Amino acid sequence: MHQDHVYINSRGGVKIRNALVADGHDIVLRRFVSHAHSDHLYDINESIRNMREIIAHKATFDLLDVLDVFVPKSKRRSVDYGDKIIIEETNELIEIRRSRHILGSAMLVYKTSDDKTIVYTGDFKDPGRGTEVIEEPDILVTEATYGDPEYKRGFRDIIEDLLIDFVTHLLSKGPVIIHAYYGKQQEVMDILRRGGVSTPFIAPYKVYKMSKIAESYGAKIGDLYQEGSKEAEDVMRDGWFIYFTHTASSSKIRGYLYNNVRHLGGVSINRVYLSGWLFDSLYKQLNETDYIFAFSDHADFNELIEYIDMTRPKKVVIDSFRSGETGKKFAKEVRKRLGIEAVAQPI
Ligand SMILES: [Zn+2]
Repeated sequence: MHQDHVYINSRGGVKIRNALVADGHDIVLRRFVSHAHSDHLYDINESIRNMREIIAHKATFDLLDVLDVFVPKSKRRSVDYGDKIIIEETNELIEIRRSRHILGSAMLVYKTSDDKTIVYTGDFKDPGRGTEVIEEPDILVTEATYGDPEYKRGFRDIIEDLLIDFVTHLLSKGPVIIHAYYGKQQEVMDILRRGGVSTPFIAPYKVYKMSKIAESYGAKIGDLYQEGSKEAEDVMRDGWFIYFTHTASSSKIRGYLYNNVRHLGGVSINRVYLSGWLFDSLYKQLNETDYIFAFSDHADFNELIEYIDMTRPKKVVIDSFRSGETGKKFAKEVRKRLGIEAVAQPI
């Protein structure tokens, strides 16, 4: 297997020829970082120490800075969509294309000296719209987070409008806390602003920094205050704001926020968890004030299949390092539904 053009190693690195590894470590000269999520940054410090260069979209490097992943300037190969890089040793070519997932997400197109095309999508959603389709590659390496046929979400084309309505409705009762992964927070800020929501945003340090980066790349963020600043305290006292934080951050935040709005009396602070793991319904109410709302930065099952169908690769390699049994199941579905050779790796 390892003499193949591409395979996924046991630590989740997508190794292409002997030239490059994407989103993991291996003994090669360069690493491509598809985006700044932690499950794509395994062993990054080992790569930084041992490799000649780290290739990533310029926004990804900005986000890595905030995440305290330090890539020395001499090793940074900062790229934009459409950029091409020649691999000197082999005279092969890399091209950077757009994947829609979070700020800076990029797809890799690798052209070998024997005229084969290998595509690695990284995480993505919106096939053919936000995420580019590279037609008829020899090998397509792709994700399968929602690769089970049961993982289908509705409301696809109107989900952003529904989210705006949902948040606006909650804001009529008091401040709102939104829990989401890095990247998704910034996307949702942009969606709300474009949807006419002018409520001030408050965020803790890292979320604040990332949002400022997103703004510098064109996201509409507007009024945003860093938690702990005088301005943020003033906004909190007014009792009308949206507090953005990480999915995994502590639920104690609400107590802290209540202390700031208590003087208003009768105000409830509602909390919304944005999650891709809700199917068949738009949202779920957990208790009086907590909700899960179905909003994902990943393709659902239908979109994953659709993307492969649009691409028509000769062979598909599914990343089951990150998707586990679901990835293996998805490889089966690709073979069955599309009649395309598909394997899940690492085996
Ligand atoms: Zn991701």
